[in-house]
Amino acid sequence: MDLCYTPAHELSRLLREKTISAAELAEAVFGRIDAVDEKVRAYLLLMREEATAQARAVDRALAAGEELPPLAGIPVGIKDNLCINGFETTCASKILKGFVPPYDATVIESLKQQRAVFTGKTNMDEFAMGSSTENSGFFPTANPWDLERVPGGSSGGSAAAVAAGEAVMALGSDTGGSIRQPAAFCGVVGLKPTYGRVSRYGLVAFASSLDQIGPITRDVRDCALLMGVIAGHDPKDSTSVPQGVPDYTSALVADIKGFRIGVPREYTGEGIAPEVRAVFDQAIEVLTGLGATVEETSLPHTKYALPAYYLIAPAEASSNLARYDGVEYGLREPAEDVVASYKKTRSRGFGPEVKRRIMLGTYALSAGYYEAYYLKALKIRTLIKRDFDAAFERFDLLLSPTAPTPAFKIGEKVADPLAMYLSDICTLAVNLASLPALSVPGGFAGHLPVGIQFIGPPFAEERLLRAAYAFEQETGWVSKRPAL
Ligand code: GLN
Repeated sequence: MDLCYTPAHELSRLLREKTISAAELAEAVFGRIDAVDEKVRAYLLLMREEATAQARAVDRALAAGEELPPLAGIPVGIKDNLCINGFETTCASKILKGFVPPYDATVIESLKQQRAVFTGKTNMDEFAMGSSTENSGFFPTANPWDLERVPGGSSGGSAAAVAAGEAVMALGSDTGGSIRQPAAFCGVVGLKPTYGRVSRYGLVAFASSLDQIGPITRDVRDCALLMGVIAGHDPKDSTSVPQGVPDYTSALVADIKGFRIGVPREYTGEGIAPEVRAVFDQAIEVLTGLGATVEETSLPHTKYALPAYYLIAPAEASSNLARYDGVEYGLREPAEDVVASYKKTRSRGFGPEVKRRIMLGTYALSAGYYEAYYLKALKIRTLIKRDFDAAFERFDLLLSPTAPTPAFKIGEKVADPLAMYLSDICTLAVNLASLPALSVPGGFAGHLPVGIQFIGPPFAEERLLRAAYAFEQETGWVSKRPAL
């Protein structure tokens, strides 16, 4: 049995039965990292020593007959915009090189309570701005299915690590698609929770009204497991919602008879590659075969989602990133006076895409342009939300491709920001409307995985998991792995 490709829920059982040990599991995963990460480059930082110590402690506790939580001993990869006390957190930016947070993100605390094992910090687009992980300030990550292609982004390192067997599960963050699109490109499961469902405390902010942390996993059951661990109210995040967390695994019944699924026509027409459309049409057939009714619908304001997102997200980012001035965090470039030092630090520390966003956002927020751009974008955001509200009066779930194309070639879109932005056309509106959405492997276009996306009303994560589980059980795409 290949431990690196066994889902967490099975590993958890094997650990309890003492068929395997946590130390053995950690060794297998780090062995896999040693074998393939030179090619994939999913990690910015490895936590081998701590992982080994964590794993040994789990083995000792199991040997002593302790009851341990479900994720005890499970190797988890962590996106590098999540703070782990005592370990460098860079957001793949040179400006944060050397920044070691003195505290844990709440999701990290929750995983520590589970006694999960951290493999390391995964690569990403700088400050989560991008769709390919090529905007990393350090190096790009490759797609395990085809090393000449991108893994998607911005959580490309996390998705690639799971796909390559370099982690059993991982955490990502999603502001406009950054969990779902890389999950789709890498043939794994990714869930962007409802805004406020998971605490953002200790997540380095990109666009605070859109950011959510979520699971990237090998299968839907693992997704439900990890979601149950990270969800919940947190007094340290005022936008986290004080609402109980259901047992997400109990939603995993492979039955969606009578589910009403809407397919927004704006997500299946222009811009969607024919090979993606083909996989998507097959998915509809599968769901119909399972007893769901699938019907076309419309979200008329969809075409404004991209422009609205690229005003709101950069506006928030320009404000959030103002704190990186060389004084408190990471890089500091000394100069003749403090203003010159700010300039030098920010010029050298930020990459081109981050600078572009800061300029866009500062412009959109500036006097005289605020009403014309930022305020208008907020109004569009409301219209987009209303489109979804109306659709959910008629449908339990909405269905779309996760991304308009399969993984594209490294370098293909770097010179054209708009082309890069367009790879999120199926995911952005979900964040603007604060909704949960899940990407599950839907099939293949040649050798490349294609994802399908379920979108739900607020706090309908269980419904998403149930539909994805039924689909997964019927199709079995999740069991495919890259040759690598
Ligand atoms: N690709 C989108 C962007 O560049 C979304 C990124 C994300 O979800 N973090 O902003």
